[in-house]
Amino acid sequence: MGVALAYIGLKPPVSRPPVPPKAEPVSATDQFGMKPDRLTVEIETIKRGDTFSDLLSPFTVGEDAIAQIVEMAKPVFDIRKLQPGKDLHVYHTGDSLRQVAMAVYEADPTRYVVFDFGDSLHARVVEREVRTSSRSISGSIQNSLYETLEDLRVDPFLAVRMSEVYAWQIDFGRLQVGDKFTVAFEENYVDGKRIGLGRVLASKFTHGQKHFEAFLFAEGEREEYFDSEGNSLRKAFLIAPVEYKRISSRYSGRRFHPVQKRYKAHLGTDYAANPGTPIHATGDGTVTDARYGRANGNFVKIRHNGTYSTQYLHMSKIKGGIRPGTPVRQGDVIGYVGSTGLAQGPHVCYRFWKNGRQVDHLREDLPSVDPLPEAAMADFEIHRDRWRAHLAAQEPVLSRGATAASLAPGI
Ligand SMILES: [Zn+2]
Repeated sequence: MGVALAYIGLKPPVSRPPVPPKAEPVSATDQFGMKPDRLTVEIETIKRGDTFSDLLSPFTVGEDAIAQIVEMAKPVFDIRKLQPGKDLHVYHTGDSLRQVAMAVYEADPTRYVVFDFGDSLHARVVEREVRTSSRSISGSIQNSLYETLEDLRVDPFLAVRMSEVYAWQIDFGRLQVGDKFTVAFEENYVDGKRIGLGRVLASKFTHGQKHFEAFLFAEGEREEYFDSEGNSLRKAFLIAPVEYKRISSRYSGRRFHPVQKRYKAHLGTDYAANPGTPIHATGDGTVTDARYGRANGNFVKIRHNGTYSTQYLHMSKIKGGIRPGTPVRQGDVIGYVGSTGLAQGPHVCYRFWKNGRQVDHLREDLPSVDPLPEAAMADFEIHRDRWRAHLAAQEPVLSRGATAASLAPGI
């Protein structure tokens, strides 16, 4: 990434000839690459409702010049987008006149806008060079993933990134003490300062007794996460249809029914959630049933393909437009949590059919979408093995939740 992406006006960026040694001290280059010698810099913090001219009103600058420079900036920066709380750095003559030479607005850590009121008015956006480097960490969860990341001095937002990578495999709301992870990820830097996270590159997560590997790999047009066998981590089904508080009843061949007061099979998984919480289709498909039933209450059934169907019971309300024949995509809202029909409290009873038989979806090895084609496997395996070896090297030798950090191999 280079400097000076967009350029308006005739004047090149400020560059001064080498300064010969002088008695008086010369100010160093500031954070905008300016050498404000002979100029004074004042910082105006933008308040709600401040216009560009308001901010420049304590200084000397013509209204015409302001109007012109705002117009010139238009293709690269909309002056109405000055954000309250951010700063406008005003470079002025420092004498009683306080004539404005330049104003700089830092739009975000990666770019700033220079308004040059010099001989030829111009405005330009300067993109700072963002350097990305990869880093790897290993940790084990004592309280929460968030706290573990903070202890490792990593942006805790990495927890969100990891939950996205494993959205189809691991419920990050239910991590357990002792769950372990090793993850390689990118961090972005500007001028040596960390400004945010990049992508997760590879990871191994141990949740309970199970290991989940994830490798970011580009194949054709797509770049996504694959498990060790080249299956996409994206599954045809979400792990749960709702953001839930707890599983109030698991699938079982025999349980005591709290309302009917007798033993019978429970061929579904009950997710207790607040009334009104949106219920999502767990996979792509077509609605085959959407109505009220005496036991099921308001319910929706979806046929996903020749093998799988799912059903969602006890809704307070079926979403408008959801009726037999409606196509749905994974994640679409189809209704809202309630307790209609034979239900003790607000929950979704989620039922899952495979080849016409009801099964426990939590015990099913659910199908992936779009695995890697055979032709890409050789490349993928090289990529995977390299990252595997790298991640293994990060894992602590002592099982004390120790940490390791280093640079990733040149990938
Ligand atoms: Zn149920």
